Amino acid sequence: MAQHLIPTSALHRWVTDLWLAAGSEHREAILTADHLVGANLAGHDSHGVGMVPRYVNSWLADELQLNRHAHVMQDSGSMLTLDGQRGMGQAVTHEAMELAIARAREHGVCVMGLRHSHHLGRVGHWAEQAVAAGMVSVHFVNAVSKPIVAPHGGKQGRFLTNPFTVGIPVPGREPVLLDFATSAIALGKVRVAYNSKSRVPPGSLLDHEGSFTDDPGVMFPPPGSAPGALVPFAGHKGYALAMVCELLGAALIGGDTTRPPNAQMKHAIWNNMLTIVFDPQRMGATEVFGSEFSAFVEWVQSAPLQEGSPGVLLPGDPERATRKARAQAVPIDSGTLAQMDEAAAAVERAKGNSPGPLSRLEIAAHRGNMER
Ligand code: NAD
Repeated sequence: MAQHLIPTSALHRWVTDLWLAAGSEHREAILTADHLVGANLAGHDSHGVGMVPRYVNSWLADELQLNRHAHVMQDSGSMLTLDGQRGMGQAVTHEAMELAIARAREHGVCVMGLRHSHHLGRVGHWAEQAVAAGMVSVHFVNAVSKPIVAPHGGKQGRFLTNPFTVGIPVPGREPVLLDFATSAIALGKVRVAYNSKSRVPPGSLLDHEGSFTDDPGVMFPPPGSAPGALVPFAGHKGYALAMVCELLGAALIGGDTTRPPNAQMKHAIWNNMLTIVFDPQRMGATEVFGSEFSAFVEWVQSAPLQEGSPGVLLPGDPERATRKARAQAVPIDSGTLAQMDEAAAAVERAKGNSPGPLSRLEIAAHRGNMER
């Protein structure tokens, strides 16, 4: 399916203006645009601006609440439990991370639980916020909506794509950023494949009868038909990690697990997140860490390459490469673009104001400047 190029700065302005029109305070609108456009720049279109239509529907259904803030429920200094009050995940999570980073500066470490946030998007963004402050961060996240990932050995969805993320600042080098869904692929990537009429990698989806398929359409069946399910990555291991995300990321901090009574919303995706932020300097081994890391990476990257391999990368390298390639313009597929135009029209109908269709910002592709 055709890709449409939107200039990065104009895309950021469009997302900001859309949320301002819907009623977001300026900071919330900017943080939302920073995050969503940032996910496209990192190459994770599944968690980029293509989420706007779902967020708009969630807001119109009075599920997503604008202008809410992270509310402190429990505070014992180095341990915090916060409630996102069903607010915009991009804003309440930024606030929650700011607080956790400040506490880690004070105490060396902070264990922070954030519950009842609307979709908090690409979790790597939050690890990057910690890394920019010189902190290591570890994130266990559960997501609550219609369950779509089958447990290992099952053939019907029981939870979502619960991401796990670690950010590590490395002296004198780019940080390491591990950030993935515990499903074989993220649901957003199934949506992107569905919108762009392509297939998903084999071994990642089951149809409604429990047989493997590469057809993303099984996750978007006609009304009244049973959906298929995603499978966890790495079989029982991914399933076990997804389970830990439910327990630490949600149940332990007073958040909702993905059980039917907690998943009655029409459009919202709620997230709960347990984050451990700590100051690596306080381990007293920063110098050794930097040199040991470099020596280890050199050893790892000295492995002879498999046939056709582009090289041995580090977690975080693919996102950095895509960020460079997309600095000027972001490609958006036709299906997603149409949904975004409709989202702007819906805001216009509800509030009498909107930035207009995103498609009018499209620019002609220059040969060689689109990487996909
Ligand atoms: P993915 O499968 O693309 O994996 C990304 C991770 O793998 C990154 O850390 C990347 O640097 C690393 N990586 C990729 N190729 C590599 C290579 N060749 N060598 C070394 N490392 C490599 O990601 P995903 O599972 O599709 O998840 C995409 C995004 O979706 C993530 O940002 C995640 O936070 C987000 N997500 C969010 C939710 C939510 O509820 N908010 C749910 C699921 C996923």
